[in-house]
Amino acid sequence: MILLKLGGSLITRKEVPFSFRHRVMRRLASEILPAAEREGLVVVHGGGSFGHPLALEYSLHRGLSSEHQLRGVALTRHAMAELNRLVVGCLLDAGVSAFGVQTSAIAKCSGGRLEGLELSTVRWLLKHGLVPVLCGDVAQDSELGACILSGDTLLRVLALELKPERIVLATDVDGVYTARPDKPGAELVPEITPREAHRLKLSLEGGDATGGMRRKLEELLELAKHGYTSLIINALEEGRLRKALSGESVRGTIVKR
Ligand code: ADP
Repeated sequence: MILLKLGGSLITRKEVPFSFRHRVMRRLASEILPAAEREGLVVVHGGGSFGHPLALEYSLHRGLSSEHQLRGVALTRHAMAELNRLVVGCLLDAGVSAFGVQTSAIAKCSGGRLEGLELSTVRWLLKHGLVPVLCGDVAQDSELGACILSGDTLLRVLALELKPERIVLATDVDGVYTARPDKPGAELVPEITPREAHRLKLSLEGGDATGGMRRKLEELLELAKHGYTSLIINALEEGRLRKALSGESVRGTIVKR
């Protein structure tokens, strides 16, 4: 089984609210189809310019402290449902039997941490060869009232539960760089292990509501400690996702034990 994350930076234009990259997603869907036909596949996607602006506007990442935020909770869910529908629509058009699963209906958080995922629906879909498509979402939180559950955190917990053979994170940059990729001198780091991670001097500016590349790497290092290898790639480059899903070596960052 393959666990694939489609980054919000990849499937939306992050700087323009509610801008879905239709053309990119249509191509990604055609690159995903062979893997979906070959083996089990679970897709997680991020919020990009659908989820993050609302989460930040209503400070949802800090929990509920005023009634005004309730509208933000509802609007964030609505935006993520819309994005999920667009992603699932492109996958269906390409021939993938994709099935949207509402993360906020199956996730329980406490103090901003994901504590439980009710996975019977996901397991049922996998058993029958359908492709569950989950997303980062607003979620119930027993301490904070509500919180924002990032696609990367969801990916970590799904991996620990579903034990995939391959984990691929598709984003809009080639992998983890020593500094912001647009900064002169920034270099791609081809491999990161938990043991060496603290020695690497990485500048990982966050920027979105869920911690950006820093959070992503933390989640993947945690997975690496459990023996899972994951690969971060730039899926804006045509063909790279298809190759990564089939196990061919491609430019990117491998995070492993
Ligand atoms: P996604 O939405 O695809 O999951 P994020 O937006 O969370 O991805 O993180 C990817 C972004 O992180 C890139 O678009 C890049 O601009 C930014 N970034 C900041 N620092 C780094 C770094 N050191 N290496 C790679 N990307 C970085």
